[in-house]
Amino acid sequence: MPDPTTDHSSAPSTIVLRNPATEEVVRELTLATRADADAAIKRAAAAGPGWRAIAPADRARLMRRFADTIAAHADELAALETANMGMPMGNSTWCANAAADVIHYFAGAIDKHTGSTIPVAGGVDMTFHEPLGVVGLITPWNFPVLMASWKIGPALAAGNTAVLKPAEITPLTAMRLGELALDAGIPEGVLNVVVGTGPEVGWRFVEHPTVRKVAFTGSTAVGKRIMAGCADQVKRVTLELGGKSANIVFADADIEAAAAAAPGAVFDNSGQDCCARSRVLVQRSVFDRFLEHFIESSRHFTVGDPTSPNTAMGPLVTAEHLARVRRFTDGLETVYTGDVPEGPGYWHPIMIATSTDHSASICRDEIFGPVAVVIPFEDEADAIRICNDSDYGLSGSVWTGDGSRALRVVRAMDAGTISVNSNSSVRYSTPFGGFKQSGLGREHSMTVLDHYTELKNVFIATGS
Ligand code: NAD
Repeated sequence: MPDPTTDHSSAPSTIVLRNPATEEVVRELTLATRADADAAIKRAAAAGPGWRAIAPADRARLMRRFADTIAAHADELAALETANMGMPMGNSTWCANAAADVIHYFAGAIDKHTGSTIPVAGGVDMTFHEPLGVVGLITPWNFPVLMASWKIGPALAAGNTAVLKPAEITPLTAMRLGELALDAGIPEGVLNVVVGTGPEVGWRFVEHPTVRKVAFTGSTAVGKRIMAGCADQVKRVTLELGGKSANIVFADADIEAAAAAAPGAVFDNSGQDCCARSRVLVQRSVFDRFLEHFIESSRHFTVGDPTSPNTAMGPLVTAEHLARVRRFTDGLETVYTGDVPEGPGYWHPIMIATSTDHSASICRDEIFGPVAVVIPFEDEADAIRICNDSDYGLSGSVWTGDGSRALRVVRAMDAGTISVNSNSSVRYSTPFGGFKQSGLGREHSMTVLDHYTELKNVFIATGS
C-alpha cells in the first residue's frame, strides 16, 4: 500500500542543504530509500528484547548519560541547527539544552510510570504498561533537535525501540543525536535515524507491519494522510499538527506588557512555530493603544544574522518556504512591515495587518511566517467566538487583570495549551497538544507515556 498521493519512482536520491542566511551549501546528503527504512526497522526490532531486558535503573542511567552527552555537545548542536535552518543562535542553544532536559525528564520517568491494582471480587486485578515495540517517529523542520527529543525521550523510556525520520531539509542535529546516543552507551539499534523524504521513508513507517505506532509532528494535511494510512492496521498514531493560535488581550490587561510580549509570541523562529500566536485579538476600547505599542515593540525585534547573539529573528528555512509564505503576503495591506538584510538569504520581513473579516485567509490559514493579524473584539463572548472560529486549536493566551475572567475564558477556549498573562506554551513536565485539527494525543509529562505503551489488565483468581 504505497502512499497513494505520491509517485515513488521520482523520489530524489540526494539533497543539498543550504544555510538559509547565506545560501551557502552546508552539506550534500544521499537520501535513504524504502530499503534503508526497512533495514532500520529490522535493526530496531532486533534491539527491542535487549533494551527491555535492561533493569529500569540501568536504562534510566543510560538515558541520563545520553542527556548529559547532548548537553556537553549543546554548542555544536546549536551551531549545526543555526547553519541548517537559520534559527538564531540564542534560540538554537536554548533548544539543544532543552533537548537534554527532555531526555533527563524521561530517564527519571522510567520507574515512575506505574500500573495499578483494582478492587474486584474473587481475586486480584492489576494493570501493566507494556511497550509497543518498534515506534516510527516523524519530525518537522522547524525545531529539529527539540522535536526529535520530544519523541525519543518517551519512546525509549517506555521500553520501545525507535526509527526516527527527521525532515530531510533539516536533518543534521537529529543525525548527530543518533551518534551521541551510541557514544553515551545506548545499545546499537535502539535509536535509528533515517534521513529520507516523507513519501519514501516516513510512509514506510505507516505501512510496515513491524512498526506499531507512528508519532508524527508536521502539517495537518500530511497528518490526515498518516492517520488514514495507519487505519489499515489499526496502528497507533499520535499527531502534533498545525495551529492558528489566538492571543486575546482584554482592556483590563497590562496593555504595555501584553504588547511587549506579543512580537516574541508570533515572530520567534520567524513565525515558523506551531504555537505562534498569529491572531492577536484585542478589545476594541484598547485596540489603537495596543497596536501602537505592538508595532513599537516589533520595531525592536532585531532581524538579521542568526549567528549574532543580538538577533531575535533569522531568515525562513528554504527558498521554497519563502515562496510559500509570499503567496500569502504578496499584496497584503499592512500597518507595519519591517526591514530585512540585503544580499543573499531567504528573508521575509515582519508584517502586521489588521482585519475585521474573520473569513479572510490571513485570519484562517497557518502562514508559518512572521505575519500577525490584529483583530478587534467587543466583549468576552465575542473574543471566545472569534478564537474558536478556527479548524485549529493548539495553543493560545489570555491577557487580563481579572482572575475570574481568565478562568472563564480559558475554559471556553477550544485549545489544548493555554497561558494567562504569558505566551509560554511548552514545558516537558506539562501536557502539550491540540484540540480539533491541531492534533491527536499529547506530548510531554507522564501523560505521553500512555501514548507509547499498551495498557494490559490481568486478573488473578484467588478463590475467594
Ligand atoms: P510536513 O507535514 O510537510 O512534514 C513533517 C514531516 O513529515 C517531515 O519529516 C516530512 O518529510 C514528513 N512527511 C511528509 N510527507 C509524508 C508522507 N506522505 N508520509 C510520511 N511522512 C511524510 O510539515 P513541515 O512543513 O515539516 O512542518 C511544519 C508543520 O508542522 C506546521 O504545520 C506546524 O504547525 C507543524 N508543527 C506542529 C507542532 C506541534 O507540536 N503541534 C510542532 C512543530 C511543527
